[in-house]
Amino acid sequence: MEIDDNEEGHVIVKENVSECHDEFQHVASNHPDHQVKVLAGDPVFVNPNSGDALKEVLRRVGKAVNVKHYHPDNPSACEWLNVTMDGSPYLVSGKVIVDVLMCTKCGAQVLRENVSEHCEKYHGGQKCSAIQEFSWVVLRICKLHEEMKMARYFIDLNWDIFLSKLASKLGFVSEAAQKFVQRGSHHHKTMSVLKVAHIGLWKEMLIPLIPYVRDRLSSSSPLSVNDYLYEWMPEVGWKDATYSHIFVTSWNYFMALHVFRMGVHVRRNYMYASFGRAGQKVFAPLFHRNSASKYALIDCHDR
Ligand SMILES: [Zn+2]
Repeated sequence: MEIDDNEEGHVIVKENVSECHDEFQHVASNHPDHQVKVLAGDPVFVNPNSGDALKEVLRRVGKAVNVKHYHPDNPSACEWLNVTMDGSPYLVSGKVIVDVLMCTKCGAQVLRENVSEHCEKYHGGQKCSAIQEFSWVVLRICKLHEEMKMARYFIDLNWDIFLSKLASKLGFVSEAAQKFVQRGSHHHKTMSVLKVAHIGLWKEMLIPLIPYVRDRLSSSSPLSVNDYLYEWMPEVGWKDATYSHIFVTSWNYFMALHVFRMGVHVRRNYMYASFGRAGQKVFAPLFHRNSASKYALIDCHDR
């Protein structure tokens, strides 16, 4: 299949508004009133699972969006470009960016480990240097994939502790249905189950009959957030293993997931970008629980 770089296709998309529940409808939109031009490039027909395939993808993207490296004479060309991808291509691309170089003398592609061999062979042993071909790529992890992974890591940690039972109460009873939830097979359903768990745990920690409120009511002491967090938790809460686990699960990881999700989904208000970063930071220890975890590595790169 031949693709003509200069050919432009047009697609007319009619606005199609369907009724849906927007849980963040209270957030004001900062989007401009005028229409924004969005261009979809041609697909690159390779499977992005190897260094060679990703080189091809990055090159095609760089050329198509007018990156200076490929269009040095164009004054409006850009120096860098944000390129967003899923976990596996992200890690392979990281290696491609570091290892794929270009000889500054002849422009040939040289791998990092072969630079001296190249100089020896093609430039008579003269000292030559090489630059990264893909130094213009600013790698970004796809936030939706990250959210899906967060949910799965969270389920993995808490499955035997309480999530398997909760899923069963919510109707996922058979072996296949349990596996469906455990694997996070359907992200929207996964997030619904996790939301039920999140709200449920908070209620369990705070409503009457539950330790804090019961303690304070029985001694006729006033209830307050500060009292709960800074008096009751150190004195009582942290000393109970179950209560501490529920607290950390809700306060840190469920909150991180929820805040991250707001950052990812509320694109109409840029202020919420910081929510994404906050959620990512607080959730990160769960990614690092398993040292072989792909997302632990990505967390070290994507800061
Ligand atoms: Zn050369």
